[in-house]
Amino acid sequence: GDFPIEIDTLVVGAGPGGYVAAIRAAQTGQKVTVVEKNEVGGVCLNVGCIPSKALISVAHRYEQAKHSEDMGVIASDVKLDFSKVQAFKDSVVKKLTGGVAGLLKGNKIDVVKGEAYFVDANTVRVVNGDQAQTYKFKNAILATGSRPVEIPAFKYSDRVLNSTGALNLNELPKKLVVIGGGYIGTELGTAYATFGTEVVILEGASDILAGFEKQMTQIVKKGLKKKGVTIEVNALAKGVEETENGVIVTYEVNGEEKKVEADYVLVTVGRRPNTDELGLEQIGIEFAERGLIKVDKQCRTNIPNIYAIGDIVPGPQLAHKASYEGKVAAEAIAGHKSVVDYLAIPAVCFTDPEMASVGYTEEQAKAEGIDVKVAKFPFAANGRALALNQPEGFVKLVARKEDGLIIGGQIVGAGASDMISEICLAIEGGMTAEDIALTIHPHPTLGEIVMETAEVLLGNPIHII
Ligand code: FAD
Repeated sequence: GDFPIEIDTLVVGAGPGGYVAAIRAAQTGQKVTVVEKNEVGGVCLNVGCIPSKALISVAHRYEQAKHSEDMGVIASDVKLDFSKVQAFKDSVVKKLTGGVAGLLKGNKIDVVKGEAYFVDANTVRVVNGDQAQTYKFKNAILATGSRPVEIPAFKYSDRVLNSTGALNLNELPKKLVVIGGGYIGTELGTAYATFGTEVVILEGASDILAGFEKQMTQIVKKGLKKKGVTIEVNALAKGVEETENGVIVTYEVNGEEKKVEADYVLVTVGRRPNTDELGLEQIGIEFAERGLIKVDKQCRTNIPNIYAIGDIVPGPQLAHKASYEGKVAAEAIAGHKSVVDYLAIPAVCFTDPEMASVGYTEEQAKAEGIDVKVAKFPFAANGRALALNQPEGFVKLVARKEDGLIIGGQIVGAGASDMISEICLAIEGGMTAEDIALTIHPHPTLGEIVMETAEVLLGNPIHII
């Protein structure tokens, strides 16, 4: 074999988990080597969060340009140049991945291109084409992420798309069937519907967006309906037939077989962790459910010098959760007492309007026997929301009854993704509803809705009876 290279901290995967872990590890004085088989930035920057949000933002621009008559804007002949849309999206991705590469370099982190495979608890082999190199490491952080689940009846092709395919179409579909009404399918479905595609969502369960409260998804579903999106629930996708320039999808609702024709079908039925081709079984890594790696509060596996973070460990498959765990793991290796605390991890769905949730929902708190006080305030009673012509939605706060401690919050409405951070901060900082109510919020802003919700909780709101 080849002559092994001695390294200090090894990070496998340069997604939002791995690259953040690498930078934090370097900040604590570790000498870091990152192994990445594709592009730095991982799923998130290349084929996930960022390109999807770029498409969603263009879709909003397009819709606003076309439909602002009620605000006095009469635009005619608004057109979409979809190849330019894609070029814009690609340019955003390129800027960010280039930025990450620069950050890794600036932190003196070695980036090795290739696929990592573990030989033992201190040895990894990195294969790049017909070249291979062995490395001996002291500590390792696994951050290999996840990939779309493929169901046998829907083999991916030019017409049967996963999220990556749906982000890279070079034509705007006239009709798109989406299998799976989770947040990825609904976000992409919303984007295409806003561009003018006829979208049909087939959801196997009794409702879409299962992770969010019904009160919130009702508003999102109203928005989808306005865009002409059809949602079929309890719909079991059976198979697909590819025609010359499209697909025919067969599905079943309450035992009745149905068919729908479209240009493309997008399958978003979940993501599986990339833990199956790393040699982890042979080094004795312990697994939790569904191929996820078991870790402790410092993201340490059962092998003391190997850590795992992000989509390959239990918990929500979200970029900010991966990055958060990356910092904890890097600090743990440096000997800090860092541990994960998941209470204040927000989840956002970039639908129209957006939804965001952090901490406990009212229902979850009650299920855990926590005595809570809950308050809601509508966007429709906020000046800025009206000036934006986006009056749909509400903010909800969940506080512990005995002392008003904020333990959760939900927002549906324009800007929910940005507004949720204030509630995250309140939870993280151990703040009460009174702390939020006493914080002076600038007027007129959507942020005032959070303050007014806290006032509702205290029983003295100004702008609602
Ligand atoms: P990844 O980002 O998957 O990165 C893992 C990296 O490891 C990859 O680059 C891969 O090439 C590399 N790798 C794997 N195996 C090996 C190996 N053996 N050797 C070397 N390298 C290897 N999350 C959000 O928080 N907000 C969003 O808005 C959002 N939108 C999304 C939209 C879509 C369409 C998708 C698909 C996902 C979205 N996500 C979003 C989820 C988010 O992308 C993931 O949670 C996040 O990327 C996980 O980060 P990670 O570092 O664990 O793994």
